[in-house]
Amino acid sequence: MTEPPHPDISRQSPWRLLGRAFLLRCPNCGGGKLFYGFFRVKDRCPTCGILLERGENDYFLGAYTVNLIAVEILLAVGFLIVMIVTWPRPPWTALQVGGVVLSILGAVFCYPFAKTTWLAIDLIFRPPAREDFIIRVK
Ligand SMILES: [Zn+2]
Repeated sequence: MTEPPHPDISRQSPWRLLGRAFLLRCPNCGGGKLFYGFFRVKDRCPTCGILLERGENDYFLGAYTVNLIAVEILLAVGFLIVMIVTWPRPPWTALQVGGVVLSILGAVFCYPFAKTTWLAIDLIFRPPAREDFIIRVK
């Protein structure tokens, strides 16, 4: 195993971590290009080298949870806006169909953001350690 000379493991502001994540950048360093295409996250940040799934097999569960919460919020806000704009005659059928479509498209669109946001949340509660930067030689 080798290690970059001096990985940055300092604790950072939660707002900075989340802000970088919302821009699809590495929460730890702000570097970009964390994905192959739209869905597949790289093993580590190309800029700072932090393990993007922190070497854990079930790390995706946190991202799924963040994705679910984001889509639920999106649905609630969309529903509320349509209700306010069309009151007293809300289009119930359109709301039902739109809700299904928004759920599916929202889950797809929010997926990469959920990945980076979950990493930011994890880094808030579990700041980076040297192990997050170690390069394992197979
Ligand atoms: Zn980075």
